[in-house]
Amino acid sequence: MAASPLQPLSPFPHLLSPLVLGGVRLPNRAIMGSMHTGLEEAPDGHRRMAAYYAERARGGAGLIVTGGLSPSPEGVQWDGMADFSTDAEAERHRPITAAVHAEGGLICLQLLHSGRYAHHARSLAPSALRSPVSPATPRAMTGEEIERTLDDYARAAARAEQAGYDGVEIMGSEGYLIHQFLTLRANLRQDDWGGAYANRMRFALEAVRRTRARVAPGFIVIFRISLLDLVEGGSTWQEVAQLAPALESAGATVLNSGIGWHESRVPTIATLVPRAVFAGLTRRLRALVKIPVVASNRINDPAVAEEILARGDADLVSMARPFLADAFFVRKAAEGRADEINTCIACNQACLDEIFEQRPATCLVNPRAGRETQMVFRPARRRRRVAVVGAGPAGLSCALTAAERGHSVSLFDAASVIGGQFNLARLIPGKEEFAQTLRYFARRLQQTGVALQLGHRVDAGELAQGQWDAVVLATGVLPREVALPGATADRVLGYADVITGRRQAGRRVAIVGAGGIGFDVAELLTHGQHDKDAAHEALRYISEWGIDLQGTVPGGLVPPSGTPPAREVWLLQRRDEKPGLRLAKTTGWIRRTLLARRGVHMLGGVGYQRWSAEGLHVTVSGVPRLLEVDSVVLCAGQESLRTLEAPLRQRGIEPLFIGGSRQAGELDAMRAIRDGTLVAMEL
Ligand code: FAD
Ligand code: SF4
Repeated sequence: MAASPLQPLSPFPHLLSPLVLGGVRLPNRAIMGSMHTGLEEAPDGHRRMAAYYAERARGGAGLIVTGGLSPSPEGVQWDGMADFSTDAEAERHRPITAAVHAEGGLICLQLLHSGRYAHHARSLAPSALRSPVSPATPRAMTGEEIERTLDDYARAAARAEQAGYDGVEIMGSEGYLIHQFLTLRANLRQDDWGGAYANRMRFALEAVRRTRARVAPGFIVIFRISLLDLVEGGSTWQEVAQLAPALESAGATVLNSGIGWHESRVPTIATLVPRAVFAGLTRRLRALVKIPVVASNRINDPAVAEEILARGDADLVSMARPFLADAFFVRKAAEGRADEINTCIACNQACLDEIFEQRPATCLVNPRAGRETQMVFRPARRRRRVAVVGAGPAGLSCALTAAERGHSVSLFDAASVIGGQFNLARLIPGKEEFAQTLRYFARRLQQTGVALQLGHRVDAGELAQGQWDAVVLATGVLPREVALPGATADRVLGYADVITGRRQAGRRVAIVGAGGIGFDVAELLTHGQHDKDAAHEALRYISEWGIDLQGTVPGGLVPPSGTPPAREVWLLQRRDEKPGLRLAKTTGWIRRTLLARRGVHMLGGVGYQRWSAEGLHVTVSGVPRLLEVDSVVLCAGQESLRTLEAPLRQRGIEPLFIGGSRQAGELDAMRAIRDGTLVAMEL
């Protein structure tokens, strides 16, 4: 239908068009995908979840899917994890569904049985095969246990309906129980549930069939189907093509896409994964069925979602983490304010990594996520004049939150752009998304009237003259120096100079310090030509990680074929352990694998001796060794920059410290942004 001349054209017509699903009408095509938040087990968790999901409904999510809950007690991932196996638990969910419906939203409960991914001794699976990421070997299910578990799915769905949910999502991908039944990797059964594919898919089909039979016809039944397993012994596309129409016939309302198993050694959602790189698989799925299909993985921007839908790759898009980063993602897109979206940068730091530490998930760029009842930004009782020195992540978040609360804020930075060290992070190949955070802050600072003064190094005298009600120091950190006797300045480079391209490293480089920044510098130095063309970077990702998008081989894995590394690099650390062991759980393995494939020599237990014409003399676990390198890049930690502290105190000003200037140890942008936000809440 042509738009009326009086109606402005929708910026995202496909994304914002309604769709009838089951018995309900979705206002748009954006699904908030399932994410375990840790609130499921937290004290007062159900009330907090109600507020968390309601805010996302208010923000325009077309349909919300909750974090996964097991239909059976033994399907939980760890002891103490919440499940959905009792009426009493279902009753506790009523406030959640009521809160979402009160905001005009729709919500489905995800049913997820972990099978062999459980970390407890009661785990059950098709066969007694331990997964590489679980400590426990599961017991093979008896025929009776299979029947009972299938009934559990149906009973849990009926309970969800009673509790007010609009549907369920049956988790059939990512290597969980249903997926285990589907593949020879995890299913060695010889009975009716194993062997030929027709037998292996019976469990998935029965789960859908029995669920459908127990709920009202309009109740949504989503099935999350794996389109590419990315493990040896996984499914082929031929099998996926057999399963999809069978699921439709069994009663699924919609098929959501899943990519990879948890044990896959191919990254599928980290920031280095190109946006929407798997959407083409959903397009192939769409051709197999008549029911709507959902694209997922690394969709974090309304323009990308719109493109997927406009191209006909999918009927809906699922975004999980982007709704943590910004509850109002859809509403902003609909109101022509897409440039105000706080974009998920796919870092995993505050969401998945926190969950793996058994802490509730939140978001690096939005520390309120999951804490809606605790972090309430109240209007300031008195408008105060606030000076924030330093426009890195800490200063940016502090200035913005203070201004949003109604304070009059001036933000100073010596550099000509905002961002501090985050400006370096965004130059690392695979971290380009980080620029979105700076775009968000720039826009919001402008809207909230923060007086931004760039290229302005502030001193204590100027601050004293300013008569501020509060002075916040967000001056960050300085890189730590390392003495290398004999080294001339032209051989030793700081990481900032190398990353910005102000100075060039040689062909053979030693990186002193193997923390997060050292790994990033190694990635940059070995990456070679960094192609700005998204299609080329996508091809590079696919070949570097050995992905067969056609799914012709079981699991869709082929030998990786990366480009040769641009340099020979040694990544060194003093601590006598394997470099990279302390990197984050969900992304550390990716970074270690990538560098190992590029031939980076990673050495722990290194002592730095001296520099000579031959190179860098070190000891490795006490044994002398010469590294024939032509330059050294220092990534040896940081120290707080607090030079303004003493002169301010002499002038009677008691500054507040946030981010790196408060504490350099264990600093990252997550802590910096949280510090800034918390201090601004108290002003
Ligand atoms: P900074 O970012 O250092 O900002 C301080 C600002 O203060 C600077 O802009 C400086 O110019 C300004 N300033 C100092 N003195 C004055 C003065 N007197 N007057 C005016 N301005 C002043 N963190 C993550 O969480 N995840 C990552 O993946 C990640 N990757 C990184 C990759 C690289 C290569 C680097 C270098 C860092 C990375 N970080 C990452 C770390 C993250 O960027 C820092 O932890 C964060 O920027 C610290 O924030 P901050 O605001 O405390 O300080
Ligand atoms: Fe996205 Fe990082 Fe926030 Fe997780 S923590 S939602 S990955 S921005």
